[in-house]
Amino acid sequence: MSKHVAIIGCGQLARLIALAGQEIGVRFTFVAIDNEPTRCVENLGKVVQWRPTNSVISLLKAIGDVDAITVEREDLDTVLLKALDKTGLLRPGADIVLNSKNRLQEKESLSALGVPVTPYVYVATPEELHKAVDSFGFPLVFKSLEQGYDGKNQWRVRDQSELDALAQLYEGFGWIAEPEIQFSAEVSLISVRSVSGEMVFYSLTENVHNNGILHSSIAPAEFVPLNWQVAAQKQIRNLLVAWQYVGVMVTEFFVTDNGLIVNETAPRVHNSGHWTGLGAQTSQFENHLRAILDMPLGSPKETGVAGMINILGGMNIEKGLTVPGFDVHMYNKEDKPGRKLGHANITGDRELVRSQIELAGALLKSA
Ligand code: ATP
Ligand code: MG
Repeated sequence: MSKHVAIIGCGQLARLIALAGQEIGVRFTFVAIDNEPTRCVENLGKVVQWRPTNSVISLLKAIGDVDAITVEREDLDTVLLKALDKTGLLRPGADIVLNSKNRLQEKESLSALGVPVTPYVYVATPEELHKAVDSFGFPLVFKSLEQGYDGKNQWRVRDQSELDALAQLYEGFGWIAEPEIQFSAEVSLISVRSVSGEMVFYSLTENVHNNGILHSSIAPAEFVPLNWQVAAQKQIRNLLVAWQYVGVMVTEFFVTDNGLIVNETAPRVHNSGHWTGLGAQTSQFENHLRAILDMPLGSPKETGVAGMINILGGMNIEKGLTVPGFDVHMYNKEDKPGRKLGHANITGDRELVRSQIELAGALLKSA
């Protein structure tokens, strides 16, 4: 009998999970929150509308019998997540999703488990802004507690005048302040834990961000010393077990002179894992479904060196796609500047992957 999964959210991650799921006989219902655009999931399953004024019972009725419920983003209504959790089918669970929705809670819970995170202070009000300078000096990075994605709600502060300007943006919630980390690279670890507790880890992925948005990824990130990789995997393994995590979880790290430090975690499939759609024996999307449906996990082994480049709104897509060798995925979204519209994967030897990504990047940026 075919399995049925409900995905909360209708963006590109829901689309990519559903496309992978179709190949292993999973059918989908998508929940559109607050009238969000649903073009990404067009023709991939049933779409059910929900807004916070609707009851969760009516939502569950509309979804019907499901084997698992999962989310494609963190920024979800607390009442909704907690109610869905009561079914016992929300994977990962509400506590975990809510924990990563809030940067302060996330950092505190990672620190409590001994995972090294970027140093931070919580700045509750504009009067406390000096605390960040007292702790770390300039330059600083301020982040809102919630609603952070693609570098949004994040501010670089280099001097006192920029700090004063930030005070004007206060909206009553405060900030997390971090020193600006001088990293040599950024990497992420895509990990998976199933209902039965089986775990697999993909090779570390190197990520390049432009203006806070992921530009491209290459895996495996062999330049990271093996003992650092092993230590990071051990920390995340402990964390998955401690949280009784189910599904794909991605951890973003800064590579520094003193080792890997965690920037943030994502309780879901992640843009830095999109290369697995072509370059690994089992994609992060299929393994997420296998994990939440308690099926045996597939091999995360890469099939060679793999790369991914993001295609954003406003880019010269026609020209960018002339570079040979890419496996292109467009998300059927309306073109808006800076919006993630698609991605392209490539495999081959390291030099080829690197040079084709560089070429595609230059052409995508060209007029
Ligand atoms: P995502 O889209 O991954 O959810 P986000 O908006 O939640 O991103 P972060 O991942 O915290 O935000 O930051 C985005 C990028 O900004 C990082 O990948 C990194 O390049 C840069 N960045 C964030 N914090 C720092 C810091 N303390 N020092 C230096 N660079 C930073
Ligand atoms: Mg990030």
